[in-house]
Amino acid sequence: MAEPIRTPILIVGGGPVGMVLAIDLAWRGVRSVLVNREPDTSSHPRGNSNGCRTMEHYRRLGIADAVRQLGPPADRSHDVVFLTRLLGHEISRVSYLTPEQEVEHCRRPGSSIPEPTHRANQIYVEAFLKRHTETLAPCDVRFGWTLEDFRQDQNQVNAVVSHAATGKTQRIACDYLVGCDGAHSTVRQGLGISYEGLDTSELPFMSGQMLSAHVRVSGLQQAMGCKPAWQHWILNAEARAVVFTLDGKDDYLILFKPREGQTPETTDMAGFVDLIAGGGIETEVISVKSWTAGFALVAESFRQGRVFLAGDAAHLFTPTGGLGMNTGIDDTANLAWKLAAVLQGWGDPSLPDTYEAERKPVAIRNTNIARGYSQSLGRMIIPDGIEDDGEAGDRQRALFSAQLAETQDGQSMLLGTQLGARYDDSLLVIGDGTSPPPDDKVTYRPSACPGGRAPHLWFRDGSALFDHFGQGFTLLTFGEGHDGDVQDFVAPATHRRIPLKVLRLEKAMVDMSLLHRLYERPLVLIRPDQHIAWRGDVLPEDADGLLRQVSGWST
Ligand SMILES: Cc1cc2nc3c(=O)[nH]c(=O)nc-3n(C[C@H](O)[C@H](O)[C@H](O)COP(=O)(O)OP(=O)(O)OC[C@H]3O[C@@H](n4cnc5c(N)ncnc54)[C@H](O)[C@@H]3O)c2cc1C
Repeated sequence: MAEPIRTPILIVGGGPVGMVLAIDLAWRGVRSVLVNREPDTSSHPRGNSNGCRTMEHYRRLGIADAVRQLGPPADRSHDVVFLTRLLGHEISRVSYLTPEQEVEHCRRPGSSIPEPTHRANQIYVEAFLKRHTETLAPCDVRFGWTLEDFRQDQNQVNAVVSHAATGKTQRIACDYLVGCDGAHSTVRQGLGISYEGLDTSELPFMSGQMLSAHVRVSGLQQAMGCKPAWQHWILNAEARAVVFTLDGKDDYLILFKPREGQTPETTDMAGFVDLIAGGGIETEVISVKSWTAGFALVAESFRQGRVFLAGDAAHLFTPTGGLGMNTGIDDTANLAWKLAAVLQGWGDPSLPDTYEAERKPVAIRNTNIARGYSQSLGRMIIPDGIEDDGEAGDRQRALFSAQLAETQDGQSMLLGTQLGARYDDSLLVIGDGTSPPPDDKVTYRPSACPGGRAPHLWFRDGSALFDHFGQGFTLLTFGEGHDGDVQDFVAPATHRRIPLKVLRLEKAMVDMSLLHRLYERPLVLIRPDQHIAWRGDVLPEDADGLLRQVSGWST
């Protein structure tokens, strides 16, 4: 076998989570090798929702605008519509702004987000992430390579990877290994770590064995005749399905529950599309796969020694609410800076211990929110006569529409879930005696109470506050008379080589009354992942102690 390759970080898995981790590490100047079993990114569609928190991470990494070019056109309706059949009756509709209107809407002064959720399927996003990662000098991207084995000792991890196309094997020695290798994670199983939580249950829909299909149906939108939508729920006594437009033209992703014993191979997919359309539809079937819904599973542990788990390897979601990949990408933002800090010598070697303490509670919270949503959808009882023409049918549809409105309320966005993840109990967060707003899965209330995501606000020049944060810590300050405090803070940070940017905000830059309302204290310390570590009216006497704590030295 060839000489081992030496790398600070080995990432196993080139799904969205592994690739975004590689990009984040590269952004922080850290080299990594990424191996992925398949020779290319997935061509079968899965997730469509790149949440607003994910888009904020993409903005920080300089790729948000490119990701926004992917998926359906920016002027395409993003409505969610409930229909008896694709060519049948419309039961109800939840109207959303188009992507370009959403971006415009976010630009209003009081907006709490700089980046709205973007709908583009993983097939497009992963292909882009791969192309992008391959351009980054610190990333050694190896698709077609499989992790076969790994061992760790106190100093390093030794892994063996193999290349299916050539049969070649290669040893890789690394400081840290991160398993981003999905639901059947070799890394998680190699560590002997199990998932715990709630397994799937059997409901008529969005639970247990499901199928997903990528199909091409030319002219479907024209045949439907109604206002376009992004997501179509088909609900009738014969079949239920969710149909997503992938490209805003002829490509669709269809999710549905098969009959007992039905597999991708035995499914008459074209016949099923005809059934949910209500007849007369020609379909080109591109791929059909099975998947499982209804899980809320979280790994017992996210770390063992020098090996970490992130993404589906650490938590398995039911896809309702679109939280699986998004929670995984938020994992990477938490882990990347901690690994970079240790490798660059400014974070204590114990700093990454806080990864599990901070992220596992978020994974439990989010998997349960997704499961609750899938159960409310799965339990829906479709009334008799929903497809009837005339007044009787209209009445049934109106009654059902009211039931749907309750189930749907805010669920497509789950802003509170995405932006409300907090690290209040972390050793890296210093509370100030205030309480965060109540955790609400739908509604996000901006708060600078330490532990949460720093509230967003726009600068007068059109840039976002987040655009001005440093790669390390940021000390945000406003109001008069804090120069001394700032100096007392900068000196120990410089001494400890902790990257710190001082961001002084003034009237010429931002709306000061909004800033006061959002941040409430004139000195705010923001972590490299945009969560608030500490805030106060004056600096504590032991500024050095504060810096030590937030960079893990006293955990
Ligand atoms: C129908 C459906 C809809 C969904 N919708 C959404 C949504 O809208 N939003 C959302 O956030 N999530 C959604 N999800 C979930 C989302 O698809 C996953 O959470 C996401 O893909 C997880 O990313 P990952 O990188 O952790 O794992 P994966 O995407 O599974 O990638 C893991 C990679 O690791 C590789 N690998 C495995 N073992 C090895 C090994 N030994 N060596 C090397 N490589 C290996 C695999 O080849 C794979 O490429 C949906 C899922 C489904 C099924």
